[in-house]
Amino acid sequence: MRLTFLGAAQTVTGSMHMVETEGRRILLDCGMFQGRRRESNERNRTLPFSAKKLDALILSHAHIDHSGSIPTLMKAGFEGTIFATPATRDLCAVMLRDAAFIQTQDAGYINRYNEKHGIPDRVEPIYEEKDAIKAFEHFISVPYRRSFPVIDGVTCTMLDAGHVLGSAIVVLDVKEQKRKIRLVFTGDLGRVKMPILNDPETPAGTQVLITESTYGDRLHDPIEEMDQKLLDVVKRTVARGGKVIVPSFALERAQEIIFALRRLQAHRELPRIPIYVDSPLTVKITDIFKLHSESFDPEIRGFMADEGDPFAFADLRYVDSVEDSRKLNVLDGPAMIISASGMCEAGRILHHLNNHIEDRRNTILIVGFQAEHTLGRRIVERRQTVKIFGVAREVNAEVVVLHGFSAHADRDDLLRFGRACRERGSVEQVVLVHGEPEPQQKLAGLFGDNGFPRVAIPKTKETLEIA
Ligand SMILES: [Zn+2]
Repeated sequence: MRLTFLGAAQTVTGSMHMVETEGRRILLDCGMFQGRRRESNERNRTLPFSAKKLDALILSHAHIDHSGSIPTLMKAGFEGTIFATPATRDLCAVMLRDAAFIQTQDAGYINRYNEKHGIPDRVEPIYEEKDAIKAFEHFISVPYRRSFPVIDGVTCTMLDAGHVLGSAIVVLDVKEQKRKIRLVFTGDLGRVKMPILNDPETPAGTQVLITESTYGDRLHDPIEEMDQKLLDVVKRTVARGGKVIVPSFALERAQEIIFALRRLQAHRELPRIPIYVDSPLTVKITDIFKLHSESFDPEIRGFMADEGDPFAFADLRYVDSVEDSRKLNVLDGPAMIISASGMCEAGRILHHLNNHIEDRRNTILIVGFQAEHTLGRRIVERRQTVKIFGVAREVNAEVVVLHGFSAHADRDDLLRFGRACRERGSVEQVVLVHGEPEPQQKLAGLFGDNGFPRVAIPKTKETLEIA
Protein backbone atom coordinates (compact mmCIF):
# COMPACT_ATOMS: atom_id res chain seq x y z
CA MET A 1 0.00 0.00 0.00
CA ARG A 2 1.22 3.42 -0.85
CA LEU A 3 0.05 6.70 0.71
CA THR A 4 0.58 10.06 -0.95
CA PHE A 5 -0.23 13.23 0.92
CA LEU A 6 -1.54 15.69 -1.64
CA GLY A 7 -2.87 18.39 0.69
CA ALA A 8 -3.06 19.35 4.38
CA ALA A 9 0.56 18.22 4.58
CA GLN A 10 2.46 20.55 6.93
CA THR A 11 -0.47 22.93 6.58
CA VAL A 12 -4.09 22.93 7.76
CA THR A 13 -6.16 23.20 4.61
CA GLY A 14 -6.69 21.27 1.37
CA SER A 15 -7.08 17.83 3.02
CA MET A 16 -6.41 15.22 0.31
CA HIS A 17 -4.62 11.88 0.69
CA MET A 18 -4.26 9.12 -1.91
CA VAL A 19 -4.31 5.45 -0.97
CA GLU A 20 -2.96 3.17 -3.71
CA THR A 21 -3.28 -0.56 -3.44
CA GLU A 22 -2.51 -3.03 -6.21
CA GLY A 23 -3.07 -0.48 -8.94
CA ARG A 24 -6.33 0.95 -7.57
CA ARG A 25 -6.73 4.41 -6.10
CA ILE A 26 -8.89 5.70 -3.26
CA LEU A 27 -8.84 9.34 -2.23
CA LEU A 28 -9.41 10.36 1.38
CA ASP A 29 -11.00 13.85 1.32
CA CYS A 30 -10.94 16.29 -1.57
CA GLY A 31 -10.52 19.61 0.21
CA MET A 32 -9.98 23.12 -0.96
CA PHE A 33 -6.70 24.86 -0.17
CA GLN A 34 -7.12 28.20 1.60
CA GLY A 35 -4.25 30.63 1.99
CA ARG A 36 -2.53 33.25 -0.14
CA ARG A 37 -4.86 34.15 -3.00
CA ARG A 38 -2.57 33.33 -5.92
CA GLU A 39 -1.38 30.02 -4.48
CA SER A 40 -4.95 29.02 -3.57
CA ASN A 41 -6.14 29.78 -7.06
CA GLU A 42 -3.40 27.67 -8.65
CA ARG A 43 -3.78 24.73 -6.27
CA ASN A 44 -7.56 24.62 -6.43
CA ARG A 45 -7.85 24.81 -10.21
CA THR A 46 -5.99 21.62 -11.04
CA LEU A 47 -5.87 18.36 -9.15
CA PRO A 48 -2.48 16.69 -8.64
CA PHE A 49 -3.71 13.35 -10.05
CA SER A 50 -5.88 11.99 -12.84
CA ALA A 51 -9.54 12.14 -11.75
CA LYS A 52 -10.47 9.55 -14.39
CA LYS A 53 -8.09 7.02 -12.83
CA LEU A 54 -9.50 7.45 -9.34
CA ASP A 55 -11.76 4.61 -8.19
CA ALA A 56 -13.47 6.13 -5.15
CA LEU A 57 -13.50 9.07 -2.76
CA ILE A 58 -14.19 8.72 0.96
CA LEU A 59 -15.12 12.01 2.59
CA SER A 60 -14.46 12.47 6.31
CA HIS A 61 -16.69 15.52 6.79
CA ALA A 62 -18.29 18.48 5.06
CA HIS A 63 -15.90 21.34 5.95
CA ILE A 64 -14.78 23.00 2.71
CA ASP A 65 -11.10 22.36 3.42
CA HIS A 66 -12.03 18.65 3.24
CA SER A 67 -14.81 18.66 0.62
CA GLY A 68 -14.44 21.88 -1.38
CA SER A 69 -12.59 20.45 -4.38
CA ILE A 70 -15.19 17.76 -5.10
CA PRO A 71 -16.74 19.89 -7.89
CA THR A 72 -13.24 20.25 -9.41
CA LEU A 73 -12.98 16.47 -9.29
CA MET A 74 -16.27 16.19 -11.18
CA LYS A 75 -15.12 18.76 -13.73
CA ALA A 76 -11.97 16.69 -14.26
CA GLY A 77 -14.04 13.63 -15.20
CA PHE A 78 -14.30 11.58 -12.00
CA GLU A 79 -16.73 8.70 -12.48
CA GLY A 80 -16.41 6.77 -9.22
CA THR A 81 -18.39 6.81 -5.99
CA ILE A 82 -18.20 9.35 -3.16
CA PHE A 83 -18.82 7.73 0.24
CA ALA A 84 -19.91 9.89 3.18
CA THR A 85 -22.24 9.75 6.18
CA PRO A 86 -25.87 10.87 5.58
CA ALA A 87 -25.35 14.17 7.47
CA THR A 88 -22.13 14.91 5.54
CA ARG A 89 -23.94 14.28 2.26
CA ASP A 90 -26.79 16.65 3.23
CA LEU A 91 -24.37 19.32 4.45
CA CYS A 92 -22.37 19.07 1.21
CA ALA A 93 -25.59 19.61 -0.74
CA VAL A 94 -25.73 23.18 0.57
CA MET A 95 -22.04 23.83 1.24
CA LEU A 96 -20.69 22.86 -2.20
CA ARG A 97 -23.35 24.92 -3.97
CA ASP A 98 -22.44 27.84 -1.72
CA ALA A 99 -18.74 27.35 -2.56
CA ALA A 100 -19.63 27.34 -6.28
CA PHE A 101 -21.58 30.57 -5.81
CA ILE A 102 -18.53 32.19 -4.17
CA GLN A 103 -16.25 31.00 -7.02
CA THR A 104 -18.62 32.44 -9.63
CA GLN A 105 -18.90 35.74 -7.75
CA ASP A 106 -15.12 36.02 -7.33
CA ALA A 107 -14.52 35.45 -11.04
CA GLY A 108 -17.23 38.00 -11.91
CA TYR A 109 -15.62 40.56 -9.62
CA ILE A 110 -12.17 40.08 -11.21
CA ASN A 111 -13.60 40.23 -14.74
CA ARG A 112 -15.48 43.45 -14.02
CA TYR A 113 -12.31 44.96 -12.52
CA ASN A 114 -10.24 43.93 -15.55
CA GLU A 115 -12.82 45.33 -17.97
CA LYS A 116 -12.94 48.65 -16.12
CA HIS A 117 -9.15 48.97 -16.16
CA GLY A 118 -8.71 47.91 -19.80
CA ILE A 119 -7.04 44.59 -18.87
CA PRO A 120 -7.90 42.02 -21.56
CA ASP A 121 -7.60 38.92 -19.25
CA ARG A 122 -10.74 37.05 -18.28
CA VAL A 123 -10.90 34.39 -15.57
CA GLU A 124 -13.22 31.41 -15.38
CA PRO A 125 -14.65 30.42 -11.99
CA ILE A 126 -12.76 27.47 -10.43
CA TYR A 127 -16.08 25.65 -10.69
CA GLU A 128 -19.75 26.41 -11.03
CA GLU A 129 -22.99 25.24 -9.46
CA LYS A 130 -23.54 22.60 -12.14
CA ASP A 131 -20.25 20.91 -11.14
CA ALA A 132 -21.36 20.86 -7.50
CA ILE A 133 -24.76 19.42 -8.40
CA LYS A 134 -23.16 16.75 -10.60
CA ALA A 135 -21.31 15.44 -7.55
CA PHE A 136 -24.62 14.36 -6.02
CA GLU A 137 -25.09 11.74 -8.70
CA HIS A 138 -22.02 10.06 -7.19
CA PHE A 139 -22.69 10.20 -3.44
CA ILE A 140 -23.58 7.12 -1.43
CA SER A 141 -24.51 7.79 2.21
CA VAL A 142 -23.40 5.22 4.75
CA PRO A 143 -24.21 5.57 8.48
CA TYR A 144 -21.62 5.14 11.22
CA ARG A 145 -20.43 1.64 12.10
CA ARG A 146 -21.70 -0.08 8.93
CA SER A 147 -18.91 -1.76 6.95
CA PHE A 148 -19.13 -1.40 3.20
CA PRO A 149 -16.96 -2.45 0.25
CA VAL A 150 -15.11 0.42 -1.44
CA ILE A 151 -13.35 -1.53 -4.19
CA ASP A 152 -12.27 -5.17 -4.44
CA GLY A 153 -10.13 -5.95 -1.39
CA VAL A 154 -10.92 -2.72 0.48
CA THR A 155 -13.64 -2.37 3.12
CA CYS A 156 -14.49 0.82 4.99
CA THR A 157 -16.23 1.61 8.26
CA MET A 158 -16.92 5.14 9.41
CA LEU A 159 -16.90 5.94 13.12
CA ASP A 160 -18.08 9.13 14.82
CA ALA A 161 -15.24 11.68 14.94
CA GLY A 162 -17.23 14.10 17.14
CA HIS A 163 -15.85 17.10 15.24
CA VAL A 164 -18.83 18.43 13.27
CA LEU A 165 -22.24 17.01 12.39
CA GLY A 166 -21.66 13.85 10.34
CA SER A 167 -17.87 13.86 10.78
CA ALA A 168 -16.22 10.46 10.47
CA ILE A 169 -13.06 8.64 11.40
CA VAL A 170 -12.38 6.52 8.31
CA VAL A 171 -11.31 2.94 9.02
CA LEU A 172 -9.99 1.17 5.91
CA ASP A 173 -9.27 -2.54 5.77
CA VAL A 174 -6.94 -3.11 2.87
CA LYS A 175 -6.30 -6.69 1.77
CA GLU A 176 -3.21 -7.11 -0.36
CA GLN A 177 -1.52 -10.28 -1.62
CA LYS A 178 1.05 -10.26 1.18
CA ARG A 179 -0.88 -8.85 4.11
CA LYS A 180 -3.96 -7.13 5.49
CA ILE A 181 -3.60 -3.61 6.80
CA ARG A 182 -5.99 -1.56 8.89
CA LEU A 183 -5.54 2.13 8.12
CA VAL A 184 -7.28 4.74 10.25
CA PHE A 185 -7.72 8.34 9.10
CA THR A 186 -9.07 10.69 11.77
CA GLY A 187 -10.28 13.38 9.37
CA ASP A 188 -10.60 16.18 11.89
CA LEU A 189 -10.84 14.82 15.41
CA GLY A 190 -13.35 16.35 17.81
CA ARG A 191 -13.27 16.80 21.57
CA VAL A 192 -14.92 14.96 24.37
CA LYS A 193 -17.90 16.61 26.09
CA MET A 194 -18.86 18.90 23.21
CA PRO A 195 -22.44 19.97 23.93
CA ILE A 196 -24.07 18.85 20.64
CA LEU A 197 -22.01 15.92 19.39
CA ASN A 198 -21.03 12.54 20.73
CA ASP A 199 -17.43 11.96 21.83
CA PRO A 200 -14.99 10.60 19.22
CA GLU A 201 -15.02 6.80 18.97
CA THR A 202 -11.86 4.69 19.21
CA PRO A 203 -11.24 2.23 16.38
CA ALA A 204 -9.95 -1.25 17.12
CA GLY A 205 -6.97 -2.91 15.43
CA THR A 206 -5.31 0.26 14.07
CA GLN A 207 -1.98 -0.45 12.34
CA VAL A 208 -1.44 2.80 10.46
CA LEU A 209 -2.84 5.98 11.99
CA ILE A 210 -3.13 9.15 9.91
CA THR A 211 -4.08 11.82 12.41
CA GLU A 212 -4.77 15.51 12.24
CA SER A 213 -2.48 17.73 14.35
CA THR A 214 -4.01 21.23 14.16
CA TYR A 215 -3.57 21.92 17.88
CA GLY A 216 -0.60 19.59 18.39
CA ASP A 217 1.12 22.10 20.68
CA ARG A 218 -1.80 23.67 22.48
CA LEU A 219 -4.34 22.95 25.18
CA HIS A 220 -7.88 24.32 25.00
CA ASP A 221 -9.81 25.80 27.88
CA PRO A 222 -12.23 23.28 29.37
CA ILE A 223 -15.55 23.15 27.54
CA GLU A 224 -17.40 23.53 30.87
CA GLU A 225 -16.01 27.09 31.27
CA MET A 226 -17.04 28.31 27.84
CA ASP A 227 -20.58 29.46 28.63
CA GLN A 228 -19.26 31.72 31.40
CA LYS A 229 -16.45 33.08 29.20
CA LEU A 230 -18.91 33.84 26.43
CA LEU A 231 -21.25 35.53 28.90
CA ASP A 232 -18.38 37.68 30.27
CA VAL A 233 -17.55 38.92 26.75
CA VAL A 234 -21.18 39.78 26.01
CA LYS A 235 -21.71 41.58 29.35
CA ARG A 236 -18.46 43.56 29.09
CA THR A 237 -19.26 44.71 25.55
CA VAL A 238 -22.86 45.57 26.38
CA ALA A 239 -21.61 47.66 29.34
CA ARG A 240 -19.50 49.69 26.88
CA GLY A 241 -22.50 50.11 24.61
CA GLY A 242 -20.74 48.08 21.92
CA LYS A 243 -21.44 45.17 19.64
CA VAL A 244 -19.97 41.67 19.64
CA ILE A 245 -18.92 40.56 16.16
CA VAL A 246 -18.33 36.82 15.82
CA PRO A 247 -16.73 35.46 12.67
CA SER A 248 -17.82 31.84 12.69
CA PHE A 249 -17.64 28.79 10.50
CA ALA A 250 -21.16 28.17 9.28
CA LEU A 251 -20.90 24.50 10.17
CA GLU A 252 -20.77 23.43 13.83
CA ARG A 253 -19.05 26.42 15.43
CA ALA A 254 -22.07 28.61 14.69
CA GLN A 255 -24.48 26.00 16.08
CA GLU A 256 -22.28 25.50 19.17
CA ILE A 257 -22.31 29.26 19.84
CA ILE A 258 -26.05 29.52 19.19
CA PHE A 259 -26.71 26.58 21.53
CA ALA A 260 -24.44 28.15 24.20
CA LEU A 261 -26.38 31.41 23.95
CA ARG A 262 -29.63 29.44 24.09
CA ARG A 263 -28.49 27.73 27.32
CA LEU A 264 -27.54 31.10 28.86
CA GLN A 265 -30.91 32.48 27.79
CA ALA A 266 -32.73 29.48 29.27
CA HIS A 267 -30.92 30.13 32.57
CA ARG A 268 -31.91 33.82 32.34
CA GLU A 269 -28.28 34.96 32.41
CA LEU A 270 -27.99 36.49 28.96
CA PRO A 271 -28.50 40.28 28.62
CA ARG A 272 -31.55 41.08 26.47
CA ILE A 273 -29.83 42.28 23.31
CA PRO A 274 -30.69 41.44 19.71
CA ILE A 275 -28.57 38.60 18.34
CA TYR A 276 -28.30 38.16 14.59
CA VAL A 277 -27.07 35.14 12.69
CA ASP A 278 -26.22 36.92 9.46
CA SER A 279 -25.27 34.12 7.14
CA PRO A 280 -27.67 32.40 4.72
CA LEU A 281 -25.42 29.32 4.76
CA THR A 282 -25.56 29.10 8.55
CA VAL A 283 -29.36 29.32 8.37
CA LYS A 284 -29.49 26.40 5.90
CA ILE A 285 -26.98 24.35 7.89
CA THR A 286 -28.89 24.89 11.14
CA ASP A 287 -31.95 23.42 9.39
CA ILE A 288 -29.89 20.34 8.43
CA PHE A 289 -28.89 19.91 12.09
CA LYS A 290 -32.58 19.57 12.88
CA LEU A 291 -32.80 16.66 10.40
CA HIS A 292 -29.97 14.71 12.02
CA SER A 293 -30.77 14.40 15.68
CA GLU A 294 -29.43 10.82 15.41
CA SER A 295 -25.99 12.48 15.68
CA PHE A 296 -26.86 14.40 18.87
CA ASP A 297 -25.43 13.52 22.26
CA PRO A 298 -27.44 13.06 25.49
CA GLU A 299 -26.80 16.65 26.62
CA ILE A 300 -28.61 18.34 23.73
CA ARG A 301 -31.30 15.64 23.68
CA GLY A 302 -31.98 16.36 27.35
CA PHE A 303 -32.10 20.10 26.69
CA MET A 304 -34.55 19.59 23.82
CA ALA A 305 -36.80 17.48 26.04
CA ASP A 306 -36.86 20.20 28.75
CA GLU A 307 -36.58 23.46 26.84
CA GLY A 308 -37.47 22.81 23.19
CA ASP A 309 -35.60 24.08 20.13
CA PRO A 310 -31.86 24.45 20.94
CA PHE A 311 -31.30 26.81 18.02
CA ALA A 312 -34.11 29.36 18.51
CA PHE A 313 -35.19 31.95 21.11
CA ALA A 314 -36.94 35.33 21.12
CA ASP A 315 -33.86 37.61 20.85
CA LEU A 316 -32.20 35.49 18.15
CA ARG A 317 -32.87 36.33 14.53
CA TYR A 318 -31.67 34.52 11.43
CA VAL A 319 -30.92 36.95 8.61
CA ASP A 320 -31.22 35.65 5.09
CA SER A 321 -31.84 38.47 2.59
CA VAL A 322 -29.19 41.00 1.54
CA GLU A 323 -31.65 43.78 2.36
CA ASP A 324 -32.03 42.63 5.99
CA SER A 325 -28.28 42.15 6.25
CA ARG A 326 -27.72 45.75 5.12
CA LYS A 327 -30.03 46.98 7.87
CA LEU A 328 -27.47 45.67 10.38
CA ASN A 329 -25.01 48.33 9.13
CA VAL A 330 -27.02 51.04 10.85
CA LEU A 331 -27.93 49.14 13.98
CA ASP A 332 -28.19 51.26 17.12
CA GLY A 333 -27.06 50.09 20.58
CA PRO A 334 -25.57 46.85 21.83
CA ALA A 335 -26.06 43.72 19.72
CA MET A 336 -24.32 40.56 18.67
CA ILE A 337 -23.70 39.56 15.06
CA ILE A 338 -22.59 36.04 14.16
CA SER A 339 -21.50 35.79 10.55
CA ALA A 340 -19.33 33.84 8.11
CA SER A 341 -16.75 33.13 6.81
CA GLY A 342 -14.94 31.74 9.81
CA MET A 343 -11.47 32.98 8.81
CA CYS A 344 -12.82 36.38 7.65
CA GLU A 345 -11.80 35.74 4.06
CA ALA A 346 -15.15 36.30 2.35
CA GLY A 347 -18.86 36.79 2.96
CA ARG A 348 -20.91 39.15 5.08
CA ILE A 349 -18.49 39.10 8.03
CA LEU A 350 -16.23 41.43 6.02
CA HIS A 351 -18.89 44.14 6.04
CA HIS A 352 -19.41 43.78 9.78
CA LEU A 353 -15.68 43.90 10.51
CA ASN A 354 -15.36 46.89 8.20
CA ASN A 355 -18.13 48.70 10.10
CA HIS A 356 -17.09 47.78 13.63
CA ILE A 357 -13.36 47.08 13.92
CA GLU A 358 -12.35 50.74 14.48
CA ASP A 359 -14.77 51.36 17.38
CA ARG A 360 -13.27 50.74 20.83
CA ARG A 361 -16.63 49.83 22.31
CA ASN A 362 -16.93 46.74 20.14
CA THR A 363 -15.50 43.25 20.50
CA ILE A 364 -14.30 40.91 17.77
CA LEU A 365 -14.79 37.46 19.22
CA ILE A 366 -12.69 34.79 17.52
CA VAL A 367 -13.93 31.26 18.14
CA GLY A 368 -12.16 29.21 15.48
CA PHE A 369 -8.74 28.37 14.07
CA GLN A 370 -7.33 31.11 11.83
CA ALA A 371 -4.94 29.85 9.15
CA GLU A 372 -1.80 31.75 8.15
CA HIS A 373 -2.25 34.65 5.72
CA THR A 374 -5.97 35.10 6.46
CA LEU A 375 -7.58 38.30 7.76
CA GLY A 376 -8.73 36.35 10.83
CA ARG A 377 -5.12 35.46 11.65
CA ARG A 378 -4.06 39.11 11.39
CA ILE A 379 -6.84 40.08 13.79
CA VAL A 380 -5.78 37.33 16.23
CA GLU A 381 -2.22 38.65 16.02
CA ARG A 382 -3.68 42.03 17.01
CA ARG A 383 -2.01 43.95 14.22
CA GLN A 384 -2.55 47.70 14.55
CA THR A 385 -4.16 47.91 11.14
CA VAL A 386 -5.67 45.33 8.81
CA LYS A 387 -6.84 45.66 5.23
CA ILE A 388 -10.54 45.11 4.58
CA PHE A 389 -11.83 45.53 1.02
CA GLY A 390 -8.38 46.93 0.20
CA VAL A 391 -8.62 49.75 2.78
CA ALA A 392 -6.46 49.90 5.93
CA ARG A 393 -8.56 49.83 9.11
CA GLU A 394 -7.33 50.38 12.65
CA VAL A 395 -7.99 47.49 15.01
CA ASN A 396 -9.44 49.44 17.95
CA ALA A 397 -12.13 46.96 18.97
CA GLU A 398 -11.28 44.50 21.73
CA VAL A 399 -10.10 41.19 20.27
CA VAL A 400 -11.02 38.11 22.30
CA VAL A 401 -9.94 34.61 21.31
CA LEU A 402 -11.87 31.73 22.86
CA HIS A 403 -10.19 28.53 21.72
CA GLY A 404 -12.42 26.60 24.09
CA PHE A 405 -15.12 26.56 21.42
CA SER A 406 -12.78 24.72 19.11
CA ALA A 407 -14.18 21.55 17.56
CA HIS A 408 -10.64 20.16 17.25
CA ALA A 409 -8.87 17.86 19.65
CA ASP A 410 -6.06 19.62 21.52
CA ARG A 411 -2.56 18.26 22.22
CA ASP A 412 -3.61 15.99 25.06
CA ASP A 413 -6.74 14.79 23.24
CA LEU A 414 -4.61 13.82 20.21
CA LEU A 415 -2.13 11.90 22.35
CA ARG A 416 -4.96 10.26 24.30
CA PHE A 417 -6.60 9.18 21.05
CA GLY A 418 -3.29 7.74 19.75
CA ARG A 419 -2.78 5.81 22.98
CA ALA A 420 -6.37 4.54 22.97
CA CYS A 421 -5.85 3.29 19.40
CA ARG A 422 -2.65 1.53 20.51
CA GLU A 423 -4.42 -0.13 23.44
CA ARG A 424 -6.87 -1.63 20.95
CA GLY A 425 -4.39 -2.20 18.12
CA SER A 426 -0.70 -2.11 17.26
CA VAL A 427 -0.20 1.37 15.67
CA GLU A 428 3.03 0.59 13.84
CA GLN A 429 3.06 3.89 12.00
CA VAL A 430 1.69 7.33 12.87
CA VAL A 431 1.38 10.00 10.18
CA LEU A 432 0.70 13.59 11.17
CA VAL A 433 -1.32 15.68 8.72
CA HIS A 434 -3.49 18.79 8.92
CA GLY A 435 -1.18 20.93 11.05
CA GLU A 436 1.40 23.67 10.72
CA PRO A 437 5.04 22.57 11.06
CA GLU A 438 5.66 23.78 14.62
CA PRO A 439 2.71 22.04 16.33
CA GLN A 440 3.46 18.96 14.23
CA GLN A 441 7.08 18.79 15.41
CA LYS A 442 6.01 19.15 19.03
CA LEU A 443 3.29 16.54 18.72
CA ALA A 444 5.70 14.15 16.95
CA GLY A 445 8.10 14.58 19.88
CA LEU A 446 5.31 13.81 22.31
CA PHE A 447 4.27 10.68 20.41
CA GLY A 448 7.94 9.62 20.34
CA ASP A 449 8.27 10.16 24.12
CA ASN A 450 5.20 7.99 24.57
CA GLY A 451 6.77 5.06 22.76
CA PHE A 452 5.31 5.34 19.26
CA PRO A 453 8.20 4.07 17.15
CA ARG A 454 7.47 5.68 13.79
CA VAL A 455 5.96 9.14 13.41
CA ALA A 456 6.06 10.76 9.97
CA ILE A 457 5.31 14.38 9.03
CA PRO A 458 5.02 14.19 5.25
CA LYS A 459 5.50 17.18 2.97
CA THR A 460 3.04 17.91 0.15
CA LYS A 461 3.14 15.14 -2.49
CA GLU A 462 5.42 12.98 -0.33
CA THR A 463 4.80 9.26 -0.58
CA LEU A 464 4.97 6.65 2.14
CA GLU A 465 5.22 2.94 1.32
CA ILE A 466 3.50 0.72 3.86
CA ALA A 467 4.99 -2.74 3.54
ZN1 LIG B 1 -13.11 20.21 9.96
